[in-house]
Amino acid sequence: MKKLKVAIIGAGPAGISSAVEFKAEGISDIHIFEKGSKFCSTIRRLYPAGKRVDKDYKGVIASTEGICSFETETKEEFLNRMKKYINDYEIQIDYNIEINGLEKKGDDYVIKAGSFHVAQSRFVIIATGVFDKPKRPSYPIPEKIKDRVFFELPKELPEGEKILIVGGGNTAAEIACMLAGKCDVYLSYRRPQFFRINEENLKELEKRKDDITFFLGTEIKALEEDKDSVKVIFHDGHTEVFSKIFYCLGGSTPKNLLQKMGVEFRDNSPVIDEFGESNLERVFLVGDIATKRGSIINAFNSAHRAVKRIFEKYHTLIKS
Ligand SMILES: Cc1cc2nc3c(=O)[nH]c(=O)nc-3n(C[C@H](O)[C@H](O)[C@H](O)COP(=O)(O)OP(=O)(O)OC[C@H]3O[C@@H](n4cnc5c(N)ncnc54)[C@H](O)[C@@H]3O)c2cc1C
Repeated sequence: MKKLKVAIIGAGPAGISSAVEFKAEGISDIHIFEKGSKFCSTIRRLYPAGKRVDKDYKGVIASTEGICSFETETKEEFLNRMKKYINDYEIQIDYNIEINGLEKKGDDYVIKAGSFHVAQSRFVIIATGVFDKPKRPSYPIPEKIKDRVFFELPKELPEGEKILIVGGGNTAAEIACMLAGKCDVYLSYRRPQFFRINEENLKELEKRKDDITFFLGTEIKALEEDKDSVKVIFHDGHTEVFSKIFYCLGGSTPKNLLQKMGVEFRDNSPVIDEFGESNLERVFLVGDIATKRGSIINAFNSAHRAVKRIFEKYHTLIKS
């Protein structure tokens, strides 16, 4: 079992930038534990190749508070940037370890993967993100059509098929634009117009408006099997048959995991202060799990605020 000053759970933008901030302050006794086989697993898995990674995201003009930052660039450039941070700051990451338990032991916390005690640490930063648990619709998805319903992009993209994309955020817009012209694309969103979508994505949708059929202000009531396809029944009675459905509804907080670790919840959100500290003293939440409007710059900034707070509030403990 490793004995650490800081254990960080998750090697995404929030976990890596937390490590960078600690290292910059001269704390070397830190380690990241990552369940994937590479850093930034969420971004690798969910962003299509060549995707534009926007600095200003969900209509929020981003400004950087800490060390880590970036300008709008491609997925591949962004991953190289994160790799450079890891190398430059000599950040230690253990891969293929899924942390699913936390236990108080004296003044420390024991970080656990099943029954295995991975590390004992004075401070814990939880940076697991929300995308391991995509949000699902409230209606059931019949077993027989499960292989036609997707919550993330499949490796092989469809061509020449009739596709329904459900959602009104940036991800829905980007997937619609990517498939427009290659498939017969429909986009269903429950609001009558797009809301909190990047300017850039609105322009891209406008350019492809002849290749995308917009079902705005529509809500799906149920899905049914229809031969080899999916029949979608909308609340207004309209029905339409699609070859595949892509849901882009965002992620959800890993409530069970956090509660099991002892983090309190109120109204479905973890109880944390403005710096991300939870009811468990010295256990901080950063990145997407600590906010309702996640973005990369928010992940970087929340890491900066948490680390700054640790140096202010626990000065002696972190330095000793
Ligand atoms: C399709 C898509 C497009 C997006 N486009 C943009 C954009 O253009 N600009 C922008 O600013 N934001 C964008 N976002 C949002 C952005 O990706 C997130 O806000 C950001 O990745 C959050 O960083 P994070 O470190 O909090 O979480 P994540 O990036 O999700 O990283 C969490 C890490 O923790 C690991 N992990 C999870 N559970 C465990 C565990 N139990 N034990 C160990 N490790 C664990 C995961 O494998 C992952 O590596 C997009 C999101 C999606 C899905």
